[in-house]
Formats: sequence, C-alpha cells, structure tokens
Amino acid sequence: MALLEIENLHVGVEDEDIHILKGVDLTLDTGDLHAIMGPNGSGKSTLASVLAGREEYEVLEGSIRYDGDDLLELEPEERAEEGIFLAFQYPVELPGVSMTNFLKEAVNSVREARGEDELSSTEFLQQMRERADMLGLDADLTKRSVNEGFSGGEKKRNEIFQLAMLEPRLAILDETDSGLDIDALQSVANGVNKLRDGDRGFLVITHYERILQYIVPDRIHVMMDGQIARSGDKDLAETLEEHGYEWIREEVAAAA
Ligand code: ADP
Ligand code: MG
Ligand code: MG
Repeated sequence: MALLEIENLHVGVEDEDIHILKGVDLTLDTGDLHAIMGPNGSGKSTLASVLAGREEYEVLEGSIRYDGDDLLELEPEERAEEGIFLAFQYPVELPGVSMTNFLKEAVNSVREARGEDELSSTEFLQQMRERADMLGLDADLTKRSVNEGFSGGEKKRNEIFQLAMLEPRLAILDETDSGLDIDALQSVANGVNKLRDGDRGFLVITHYERILQYIVPDRIHVMMDGQIARSGDKDLAETLEEHGYEWIREEVAAAA
C-alpha cells in the first residue's frame, strides 16, 4: 500500500518569487526505503521540509497523500503525531532540556495521538535502555541535554535513537550521513537497518553514494532542478558514483 503519494508537487518560498520544486512525483510503499540523491541545491531538503510542514514553503500546485489522507491539511505537530519523523540535516541543540524529558514528551504525544496510554517513567526508561542497547549507544548520551556539546557523529546517532523511540511510520533522514567518519556512518546505517520493517517507510536523502553501501534502498531517485530526473534500483547509486550527475542533466536536456 502507498504510504506516501506525491503528485506534481510545485513548491515556492512564501512571499517570494522563488520556485524550487517543479513537479515532483514520488510514491513510497509501506515497508520500503527509497533514497533521494542529487546535486546540492536540487531541492532535496525543500522536499523534506514540505513533508514535515515547515511554514516558510508554499505549495503552489500538486498533492501529497499520506496514508490515504491529504497531508497538506495537517499542521506540523499533527504530522509528527501521525507518525512522520524528520531528522534534520543540522540537528538542533536544546541546552538545559535532557534527552530523557525531551523524548518522553515527544513519545507520549505520539502515543496519545494513536490512542495509546502514556508510558510511566519506569516504562519509558526501560524502553530507552532497550533501544539504546539495540543501537549500541552509550546510555550516558541519553542523560545529557539534547545535542548540547555532542560531536557531529553523536548528533547523528542521536537522531537514529530518536527515530527508534518515536517509532514513526514515515522516517525522513536528510543527509544524516554527511560529515560522518566510517564508524559513525556504519553505526547510523546499522540503526536504520534495524528499524526497517514492513510497517514503516523511509526516505533517505543523501548527497553521497557511500551510505547506500550499507543501507540498500528499494529504489533510488535523482533530484535535479526541482524534479525527479531519474529513478532506478540500487545499482543506480554505483553509476552515479562512477559518472556523477552530469549525464542525467544531458539526458533530460536531450529529451526536452
Ligand atoms: P538540496 O537539499 O538539494 O541541496 P535545497 O532544497 O536546500 O537543496 O535548496 C534548493 C534550492 O532552493 C536552492 O537553490 C536553495 O538556495 C533554495 N532555497 C531553499 N530554501 C529556501 C528559502 N527558504 N528561501 C530561498 N531559497 C531557498
Ligand atoms: Mg507492507
Ligand atoms: Mg539539503
């Protein structure tokens, strides 16, 4: 079943004459993981932001259906409660807010939206320990303030931990791999692989092919100039690694 159906999506910036996405079509089935690749400035993060409901972007045309419903009618908080998770390219720091309190609140608001009981403190801490273990995370990380003083790698691992705790139905990772050394990259990839299951969809946005050696996508889309210029199976990543993006630009130009 389609978890996410994007049709002819055009997006601009509120109050400015800027047109970023120019007719994106993409369907993600429940249980699938798609990678979105493409050069800098092609519109990958804009797509992620629009899915999360960031206000600065304006949908000019087209539709997004999530789990059969019109996603664009939902406020950002409602989208999170309905199971959409966006791990940002530059994770925010929340000094003075412990990971435990931050996540407990987030987890319980998602549970409430699902009609489930709140977790007690004991249950929540138990769950935190289990998931940190599953991901091979140092439990000390979870006692600190959200991302404060975290290294780049720790922030990215922390994003995956948040994902494990929030159990989203649609997880969007925007360049969670950028700037990671090989150990951190493998740890992030292992986390994602452990969290893949038949009830969850992933959009993994990446500029580099490297992470796709560890996370094997069901499908790869290449975004260029605000459109999906090409889609293919996992082997497309190797072709891109070898030949770059320019040949796709030429193909698109030749077809126009
Ligand atoms: P990517 O993530 O693929 O590198 P982005 O989605 O961040 O690309 O950006 C696509 C294009 O849209 C870029 O040219 C960028 O400068 C522009 N853009 C994105 N957000 C805004 C904004 N809020 N205001 C103005 N221009 C923007
Ligand atoms: Mg399925
Ligand atoms: Mg980006």
